Amino acid sequence: MEQELNKVLGERFGKTLEEACMEEIYHALLTIVKGRMKDLKKNAGSRKLYYISAEFLIGKLLSNNLINLGLFDETAEVLKKHGIDIADIEEAETEPSLGNGGLGRLAACFLDSIATLELPGDGVGLNYHDGLFKQTFADHKQREEKNPWMTGDDWLTRTDVRFEVPFKDLTVTSTMYDIDVPGYKGGKNSLHLFDLDSVDESIIHDGIEFDKEDIRRGLTLFLYPDDSDEKGQLLRIYQQYFMVSNAAQLILKETEERGFDLYHLHEHVVIQINDTHPTMVIPELVRLLMARGFNIDTAIDVVRKTCAYTNHTILAEALEKWPASYLEKVVPQLMPIIRELDKRVRRDFHDEKVYIIDEQERVHMAHIDIHYGQSVNGVAALHTQILEESELKPFYDIYPEKFNNKTNGITFRRWLLHCNHELASYVEELIGSGYKIHAEELEKLLVYQEDEAVLDRLRQIKQNAKLDLKKYLKSTQGVEIDENSIYDIQVKRLHEYKRQQMNALYAIYKYLEIKKGNLPKRPITMIFGAKAAPAYTIAKDIIHLILCLQELIDSDPEVSPYLKVVMVENYNVSKAAKLIPACDISEQISLASKEASGTGNMKFMLNGAVTLGTEDGANVEIHQLVGDDNIYIFGKSSDEVIKLYETSGYCSRKIYESDSLVEELVDFIISKKMILTGDPVNLGRLYKELVSKDWFMTLLDLREYIAVKEQMLADYEDERSWARKSLVNIAKAGYFSSDRTIEEYNKDIWHL
Ligand SMILES: *Cc1c(COP(=O)(O)O)cnc(C)c1O
Repeated sequence: MEQELNKVLGERFGKTLEEACMEEIYHALLTIVKGRMKDLKKNAGSRKLYYISAEFLIGKLLSNNLINLGLFDETAEVLKKHGIDIADIEEAETEPSLGNGGLGRLAACFLDSIATLELPGDGVGLNYHDGLFKQTFADHKQREEKNPWMTGDDWLTRTDVRFEVPFKDLTVTSTMYDIDVPGYKGGKNSLHLFDLDSVDESIIHDGIEFDKEDIRRGLTLFLYPDDSDEKGQLLRIYQQYFMVSNAAQLILKETEERGFDLYHLHEHVVIQINDTHPTMVIPELVRLLMARGFNIDTAIDVVRKTCAYTNHTILAEALEKWPASYLEKVVPQLMPIIRELDKRVRRDFHDEKVYIIDEQERVHMAHIDIHYGQSVNGVAALHTQILEESELKPFYDIYPEKFNNKTNGITFRRWLLHCNHELASYVEELIGSGYKIHAEELEKLLVYQEDEAVLDRLRQIKQNAKLDLKKYLKSTQGVEIDENSIYDIQVKRLHEYKRQQMNALYAIYKYLEIKKGNLPKRPITMIFGAKAAPAYTIAKDIIHLILCLQELIDSDPEVSPYLKVVMVENYNVSKAAKLIPACDISEQISLASKEASGTGNMKFMLNGAVTLGTEDGANVEIHQLVGDDNIYIFGKSSDEVIKLYETSGYCSRKIYESDSLVEELVDFIISKKMILTGDPVNLGRLYKELVSKDWFMTLLDLREYIAVKEQMLADYEDERSWARKSLVNIAKAGYFSSDRTIEEYNKDIWHL
C-alpha cells in the first residue's frame, strides 16, 4: 500500500506521502480503491436481483470500501507511520446525499449485505446532483442550501450505457453511472445511477429554488423536489418515470445479453420495488414487452411473477396517489396500460378499496404493486401485522399468500466495524472475529455479564467515544459538551410522529425543575439532529423550538451546568457515525403504530446504548430480545392508538386542561422568555397545534415519558448495572444484521 500510494501521488500530483495534503492523499486512495474494485469478480448467477429505489443513502465510501476489501488496517498503519490519521483523510471526502432517511439508508445497507453474501443483485436509482438539501441554522431556523457532492473525481464511473426515455413532450437520452459495491471479503455488485447530460446546476438560485418546468436542466438536480404545487408533482413523475424506464430497459438488455428468452424473464430476474416511487416499472415493463410482441396477458403475467414490493409506511400522506391527468401530461403511453390493469381488478374484485384508479381519478401506486407483484412485505413484525390486520386488510383478504415480513437490518461493517473501531476490536478480543460474518455470534458476549473487568472496559470504550464526540462538536459547531454528562440522543428525520416535540417538552420540564432547585445528580446532554422537509411547517417550528431552548439554556447560568440542548446541523450518515458510538440513551419515542421499523434504534443498540422507546416498529423486537431489564418502554400500545384514531377518541385539549404539569410545559413554549428568544409566529403556531390538534398524540404519552426517563437517569448511576444493560444490548443485536434480513429476502422472495 505504501509503495502504491507514493506511486499514485507521484503520478497525479508529483508529490510523496510526506509532501501531499489530505485531499491529495484522499484522491490517491480513491484511485487505488477504484482500481482494486475494478479487478473484483462481479457476482453472477442465472437469476439476478434489481433493487430499484429513489434513494440510496450510501454515505462516504472510502473507509467502508477499505474495510470490505480487507485493506483498512494496512492503510491506516501506513498513514500513521507518516503521522496522518485516516479519520482526517475521511474528512476530505464529500458525502453524497442521495437519500433522505431510513428508507434510503436501508437500501445502502442492503447493497452491502447482498454483495457480502455474494448474491447477484444491483441497485438502480438516480444520480441527483445536489441530493437532499444541506441544512444550516440561522436565527434559530432551518435554512436549505444546495448540496453538490460530485467533484469530477469521485466514486462514479461513467458508462456508455444510454437509453432513450420518451415523455409526452420530449424524449431524453440518459447516461448510466456506476458505483462499485464490494462485499465484505466477498464479490461485488453495482449501483447504477441514471442521469441526464443536460442537467445544469446554474439554474438553482436562492437556496434550492429552480424552474421546475425546465426538465432537461433540472430533472436530476434534487431528491424530492418540493411538490407542494402541481409543477413539483409533475417533476416527481418525470423523475420516477425516468428512473423506471431506464431500469426496465437495462433489465431487458442485460437479460437478453445473458442469453435468456424474455418469455422466461421471471426465472432470471427479480425486481424489488422499494416503496412506491418505482411502481411505474410495472406498466413500463408491460409496455416494453408488448412492443417486443408479447400479448397483454402474457406481458402482465411475466411482469407479475418478476416484481415484489416493500411497504415502508402506513402514514396516509406517504402512500402515493397521482392524479390520472398528471400521468397523462407526462407519460401518456402508460395510462392505457394502467387503465387495463385497473379494469382487470374491477372485473375480479368488487371492493372499491382495492381499485387502482379511484372515483376521483387518482392512481393508487401501492395498489398496482400489490395486485401486479408476487410479494408484499412489511419491514418489522408489528408493521406487517398492522398492514395485514388494518391498513391493507382488503388486500390481505384477497392475497394472504403474498404478504410476508422482513424485519429491517443494518450492515455491521459500517455501523460497528467502521464507526466504532475500539468496540469492534474489543469484541473481537473477547469472542473472536466470527461475528463480523455471523452476527448472531455476538451472543457469546453474554457470558461476560458478571465480569467486572469486561464491564469496566465497555464503560471506558463508551467514555472514549463520548470524548471523541465532544471534540467533534467543538471543532464542527463550536459547541462545548461535558463528557461526564449523560448523552441522550434523538437523531432522525424530523416528523411529528417521531415526536421530537415530546423530547423538547422534556427539556422544558428539566429546565423548570432545575430552576426550582431540583438539580439532577449528573448533568444531561440532550442531542438532536434532524432535517425537516422544506414545506413541512410544523416540523420547522419544532426545530425552531429546539434551537430556542438550546440558546435559552446556554445563556442561563443557573441551568447550563446541569442541562445542555444541542441541535446538530445537517444530520447525515457521517454525523450518525460520530454520534451513535457515544450515546447512552437512545430515543425511539414514535407514537406506537407509526414507525414502520426504524433502523436508528438498531445502530444505537449495537453500539451499547440503552433504548428509551415505545412499543413501536422494531423496538418491539428489541424489547423481546433484551428483556424488560435492558430497555425502557413507555406509552400507549399500538392497539390503543389505532382505536383512538378509529373512534376519534383523542383530544389533546382535554389532557392539556386536566393535567397541570402538561399545561405548564406546553405554556412555556409561548412564555415571555421564549418569545424574547425566538419568533412568536413559529412558537405560537406550534403551541396551538399541540393544544388544539396534536394529530400524533404528543400529550398522550408525555407524563409517562417523563417518569420513565427520570427512572432511567437514576438507574444510570449504578454504573455496573448500566454497563451490563449495555453489554446485553450489544450481545442481542446480531438479529438486526442486514445479512440476516437479506438471507430472508433471498429464501422467501428472490431465490437467487
Ligand atoms: C439510520 C439513519 C436514519 C434512520 O433513522 P431512524 O431513527 O430509523 O428514523 C436516518 N438518517 C440517517 C443519516 C441514518 O443513518
